Amino acid sequence: MTETEFCSCDVTDFLAEGFTEIGVDAASVQARLSGRCIQCGTEGTTEWMTLGRIVERDERAFLPVDNDAVQALSQRSSNDEPDD
Ligand SMILES: [Zn+2]
Repeated sequence: MTETEFCSCDVTDFLAEGFTEIGVDAASVQARLSGRCIQCGTEGTTEWMTLGRIVERDERAFLPVDNDAVQALSQRSSNDEPDD
C-alpha cells in the first residue's frame, strides 16, 4: 500500500473531472484533482500532485506537465508488483 492510494484497484484508472485545490509552493504549481476511477467507480480527490513549474518568476512562465502527473498516478503502484 502507498500513502496515495486512491482506490483498491492495482492500477487506478483515474478520470479527472476538475481541480479541487490549487497551490503554489516555491517554484512549483500543485493541485488536487477530483475525479473517479473508471475501473471501480470510486470517486474522490487525489493527493497533491505537481502540475508544473514556474520557470521565470518575472514572466510567470508556466510549464504544464499535468499529463505526466496523471500518468504517474495511474502507474505508481507498479513498483511493488512483479511483472508478469
Ligand atoms: Zn479503482
